Amino acid sequence: MQHSAQSATTPSSASPLLVVGSVAYDDVETEFGARKDLLGGSATYFSVAASLFTQARLVGVVGNDFRDRQIFADHGIDTRGLVTDASGDTFRWGGRYHADMNSRTTLYTHLNVFERFRPDIPEGWETSPFLFLGNIDPELQLDVLSKVRPPRFVTMDTMNFWISGGKRAAVLSALARVQGVLVNDEEGALLTGARTALGMGRGIQKLGPNTVVLKRGEHGALLFHGPDIFYVPAYPLETVIDPTGAGDTFAGGFMGYLARTGDLSLDNLRRAMLAGSILASFCVEGFGLDAVRTVHLDAVRRRYTDFESLTRCPSRLL
Ligand code: AMP
Repeated sequence: MQHSAQSATTPSSASPLLVVGSVAYDDVETEFGARKDLLGGSATYFSVAASLFTQARLVGVVGNDFRDRQIFADHGIDTRGLVTDASGDTFRWGGRYHADMNSRTTLYTHLNVFERFRPDIPEGWETSPFLFLGNIDPELQLDVLSKVRPPRFVTMDTMNFWISGGKRAAVLSALARVQGVLVNDEEGALLTGARTALGMGRGIQKLGPNTVVLKRGEHGALLFHGPDIFYVPAYPLETVIDPTGAGDTFAGGFMGYLARTGDLSLDNLRRAMLAGSILASFCVEGFGLDAVRTVHLDAVRRRYTDFESLTRCPSRLL
């Protein structure tokens, strides 16, 4: 069952959300088994999560081996910007998770058609009010920024592969041009040299973005927004099957919620953090998209209620 009821539940006031990122086939190994050819990629996880809240518009590239467009249609995701480059294969990534599930080894990254990709923004999409620059070559992130009208809210992601792989200058240029960024601890440390979460958050803000989300896996996520800080735990789970895509799913929940509500106040950014954390908690409960593709808003609301009691502080200590 997909959440194809999305169009019925998305209010007309929700803004479209443009995402540019990778669409991939992943080979993943965790202690629960090994799976091959899982549909993945940053834009895939992001758009499926965001589609729960608003209309997602996807810009990316796939190769002649791609056979999974239907899942996007099932979620009401507009794929006019997902081009097929028949001259090669879809981007492929392989990863193996260590026993603690918090760290992983990249087994390979085959860029394939991604190497020649130049994002093309379909007509009308250049005015999308919300934009997420998913994990792709930072030069392509900059290219997209030059092709759109300044969105109301634009955030980006990046990865060690780009920060340490000779594209650091482009990553820094992109950071200087966005309002928000969502990164994990490892990326935060690479960007700033800081060792603490606070050091990373404040360090990244100095590079440009006023809003920084530091994703810390099972240790939750921190929001830095101007001088304010907010913390959301990870939803407690007994079993994590496959963490792949959790970060992108968090970002999809976060940005999807903001695009749906159109409210960029601190309180609403806090709610968006909860939406991100809840969506990510579903993501890790199955291999690939297995768990997140079947989530409904009712299940999201139930986890939100659980969070209320999980995080409620008594009125005073002494
Ligand atoms: P996450 O677990 O949130 O870091 O995202 C994992 C997804 O990122 C996988 O589905 C991969 O296909 C995708 N991915 C891995 N490496 C890259 C890369 N260098 N560029 C773009 N996407 C990537």
